[in-house]
Amino acid sequence: MIQQIALVTGASSGIGRATAELLARNGYYVFAIARRLHRLEEIRSDQIEPIQLDVTDGEAIRMAVDHVISTKGKIDILVNNAGFGQLGTIECVPMEAAHRQFEVNVFGYARFMQAVLPHMRARKSGCIVNMTSAMGKMTTPGFGWYSASKHAIEALTDAVRGEVMNQGIDVVLIAPGLIRTEFVPRQLELLDTIAHPTVYHEILNGLRHLLSNEPQSPGPAIIAQAVLRAVTSSNPPVRRALPLDSKMAVAARWLFGARLFAWAVRQRMKLKF
Ligand code: NDP
Repeated sequence: MIQQIALVTGASSGIGRATAELLARNGYYVFAIARRLHRLEEIRSDQIEPIQLDVTDGEAIRMAVDHVISTKGKIDILVNNAGFGQLGTIECVPMEAAHRQFEVNVFGYARFMQAVLPHMRARKSGCIVNMTSAMGKMTTPGFGWYSASKHAIEALTDAVRGEVMNQGIDVVLIAPGLIRTEFVPRQLELLDTIAHPTVYHEILNGLRHLLSNEPQSPGPAIIAQAVLRAVTSSNPPVRRALPLDSKMAVAARWLFGARLFAWAVRQRMKLKF
């Protein structure tokens, strides 16, 4: 059987790493992509080849894709997953930090799609999986910039799906709920770097409270399994939300409507207004 070739971004930890390892165990040759090379080297094998790059660097992405094509001749799967969460209020997150959020979470995905699509189109075959979030369809106070980046990804993904569906290419959204990775600790570290006046402290405490369930949440393996199921399916889902908290949050948003949902969120965050 001809070996399938996959690119997985954000493969140095969490969901990306679990996905890279699972795809490799299932026979894929995986290019594992991130900035921290020493973390990628931990998973190097005869099925996993690390590529060190920052997804904000378009030239590095072009060179990486050229390398994949010159050594393997094709790209079957792209898992766009590298990302981070810029928490903080809309007023206080500096514009540079907001731009960085979009450069990584949105334009990073777009750069990879633009780089791989010509190769997938040439072979009339391929599958792109874009990692979104429950926050791709809803938001809460303090999650604005991150949610906006994931809403943007959902729109771009729905658009590109329609653009390439007649060219043998599938495009899938996976929307995780809270998953135990390095994501939440890094989000909270980043939040601590944003100066907020005291009037916002109740919201910041509410955010910390929302995220305090993270140690009890599932590990990244369930999301990796969802990616594997999507890329091996002859009829992949358009959007797969999991685990249950991600499904429920989006359902509640549409069922309750904006005002009631916002009230329910304030209750969950223990806000007194
Ligand atoms: P982790 O923090 O564990 O992993 C994030 C990965 O992204 C790391 O490998 C990191 O590698 C990489 N990354 C971040 N910035 C860049 C960059 N500029 N260039 C290249 N790589 C980068 O988080 P998760 O595994 O949880 O997150 C993966 C995806 O899942 C993200 O898109 C996130 O939004 C989404 N998600 C996560 C949820 C969760 O609860 N964990 C919930 C919903 C969605 P390095 O630092 O080495 O570059």
